[in-house]
Amino acid sequence: MKYCRNCHIFYSNSAAACPKCGIEQPEEAPQARPADRSEVRRDWLWLLIGVPVLIGVVYCAVLILKQLG
Ligand SMILES: [Zn+2]
Repeated sequence: MKYCRNCHIFYSNSAAACPKCGIEQPEEAPQARPADRSEVRRDWLWLLIGVPVLIGVVYCAVLILKQLG
């Protein structure tokens, strides 16, 4: 379904332009954007988890090396 922002009506995808006003509406892909956002969110989640874990691992390694030395 396409949506005409001018007339505020929905019309068929097969129609190139709005049947009421004839204005061509840009093709919207609402499914692509939330996927990208969730991927960005996942990246942030990994960053938020990964950085403290990395710091913890390095800290532990330093503590172990100090105890060994
Ligand atoms: Zn229209």
